[in-house]
Amino acid sequence: CEPYITSDHALMRERAEEIAQGIGILARLLKPREILLGIEDNKADVVENLQRELRAHDFSALCGRECSAEVITFPTKYPSGGEKQLIEILTGKQVPAGGLPAKLGIVCQNLGTAVAIADAVLRDKPLISRITTVTGEAVTTPCNFEVLLGTPVEDLLQACGYNAAQNNRLVMGGPMMGFALLDTRVPIVKTTNCLLAPTEAELPTPPPAQPCIRCGFCAEACPASLLPQQLYWFAQGKELEKLEEHNIADCIECGACSYVCPSNIPLVQYYRAAKAEIRERDRDMQQAEYAKKRFDARQERLQRLEEEKLAARKARQAKAAARSAQHARQNANEISGESGDADPKATAVAAAIARVEAKKAASGSAAASSGNAV
Ligand code: SF4
Ligand code: SF4
Repeated sequence: CEPYITSDHALMRERAEEIAQGIGILARLLKPREILLGIEDNKADVVENLQRELRAHDFSALCGRECSAEVITFPTKYPSGGEKQLIEILTGKQVPAGGLPAKLGIVCQNLGTAVAIADAVLRDKPLISRITTVTGEAVTTPCNFEVLLGTPVEDLLQACGYNAAQNNRLVMGGPMMGFALLDTRVPIVKTTNCLLAPTEAELPTPPPAQPCIRCGFCAEACPASLLPQQLYWFAQGKELEKLEEHNIADCIECGACSYVCPSNIPLVQYYRAAKAEIRERDRDMQQAEYAKKRFDARQERLQRLEEEKLAARKARQAKAAARSAQHARQNANEISGESGDADPKATAVAAAIARVEAKKAASGSAAASSGNAV
């Protein structure tokens, strides 16, 4: 829904049937009661076609329950394409801060995803291409291309009559959320919805940022009901916890706050950098947690092995003691057997020897055990 970008509009014009097929597959999986297809009212030319395609599908049969599907148009106002914003426009329900639409029993997908699902499931075609808008006054023939992922940006620009001398900066994405490209030798990726090549007059270079005057315009413009100026302060001070408390995760990076800021502060750039830092911190914390778990598991394993070794040693010693005692008893029996009729004196001597042998073996085993214990 960003200005300049017409790739989704082209998709709705050219691939309405695949959109309906993709919605059908999603409906079969998710079994919703209601399917709402939201379209801004400046794209009225595609509404009828999409309605016809939706009518051609029996979503109730696909879901196995009563299910309605309709196209809803709403006023074109940037930014309304964000997931939470769109859900509120279409259903009146607000997704809680930090929460997911699934908490409200809602799944929100864009049309490109529906087409990709239909291509993958019905035509065995992986996601290898996408529609990209090439526009701006520095190209002579702006248009939408279905382009293979990996295609060099410079090839696409050449196909549109790109004039590098007129272009003040090349943007991948739209004027609000896009990134400046420093080199045209980069590939088109899954998220490249637009290449914008404006002239200086068309999209002037922003003047240098001035200090925040706390006018509050950014808060009024924020579609996510955040406090952009507060986020800006916390981002400058790298106060990541405070940023999280102020729901920076809900920022959709729409750029509306930067656009209205009279001090020309590039607020979104601060938020993007802060979000990257939060992600990095979370990754580091997770890695530290994994490392601790690995260390604890290793300690546990080493202790278990030591205990097993000790138990095996004790078992061996007990066996040796039993063998010695048995041996001594045999000796005693032999002595008494050699002397013919049982000589009480010889029998007593043999028994004493056997006891001494057994005692020796037992005390040897105990000494070894206590030595191990030390
Ligand atoms: S719009 Fe700019 S100057 Fe005004 S409060 Fe927000 S950040 Fe500060
Ligand atoms: S970029 Fe600015 S206006 Fe947009 S959601 Fe984030 S804080 Fe709000």
